[in-house]
Amino acid sequence: MGAVLRVDLLPTAPASSNITAMETTPDNSPENPTPNPEPVRCYCGLQVAYEECCGRWHTGPERLMAPDAEKLMRSRYSAFVLGLGDYLMDTWDPSTRPATLDLNEPRIRWLRLDVRGVDQIDENRATVDFVAFSQQRGRRMRLHEISRFERKDGKWFYLDPLSIKFN
Ligand SMILES: [Zn+2]
Repeated sequence: MGAVLRVDLLPTAPASSNITAMETTPDNSPENPTPNPEPVRCYCGLQVAYEECCGRWHTGPERLMAPDAEKLMRSRYSAFVLGLGDYLMDTWDPSTRPATLDLNEPRIRWLRLDVRGVDQIDENRATVDFVAFSQQRGRRMRLHEISRFERKDGKWFYLDPLSIKFN
């Protein structure tokens, strides 16, 4: 009874409700099948198609040719997302590279990468400060690492973490 009385006291309510409903009805017309398309985005988070971003360094004629430490770092993150173990090994400095890399072992799902800064030490050495967000067995994890990179014979390699924090 109380609800009915309230509606009677607000005679304009039904009319304004109808207008709101019309305004929020999704546009399913053939001219506009996707009113809110997802922005194009690479796995590394840049608003560029994967093929034009990290994909260039993963496969094809420019494989392993990431032109700077940040692009290599981003391509390695994308390689973790895609499970490209060979790429991770090939871009890991031979002096610090593990003997094997089992990407399925920790069952990590990578969610997002934030590159916070790049320190170009000289032509062939740089550090990249980043945070990588992941989920493991339902638990959110945050990896904050400052990685060292070196360029040898024109190719950038991941060397090791200068600092690393998990939480
Ligand atoms: Zn990318």
